[in-house]
Amino acid sequence: MNKSTITAPNPQLIAYCGLYCGTCAKYKKGKCPGCQKNDKASWCKIRTCNIDHSFTNCAECYDLPMADCKKLNNTIGKLFGLIFKTDRLASLRYIKDKGEQAYATKMVDLDQMAIKKGQKI
Ligand code: SF4
Ligand code: SF4
Repeated sequence: MNKSTITAPNPQLIAYCGLYCGTCAKYKKGKCPGCQKNDKASWCKIRTCNIDHSFTNCAECYDLPMADCKKLNNTIGKLFGLIFKTDRLASLRYIKDKGEQAYATKMVDLDQMAIKKGQKI
């Protein structure tokens, strides 16, 4: 893969939880295939739930308001959100409103893996 292939916005690099894997250092170094293809991540309940429902990501969820989902809002996710100041719910709302391509393009432009807490985009 050349650099332009790696950085081109790609909706398939949106993780089930709303993170954008295409801007992740591990993905860029070829150390991770991204969440959608990472079958080793069978530990992740968010990933399993989406696969079971045939969703592309939690933005497609009709079962629960996303803010109430205990799988999506798990302790580890909250901790990561605090450390990296990321707001996965804001990312998922953006995907729901504007679509996956627009979100992937925005994350590549900003070189971010998710919308930051309080960030207006
Ligand atoms: S937390 Fe789960 S859904 Fe999110 S990127 Fe990691 S493995 Fe994928
Ligand atoms: S919001 Fe919760 S219930 Fe809905 S797909 Fe995501 S993890 Fe599953």
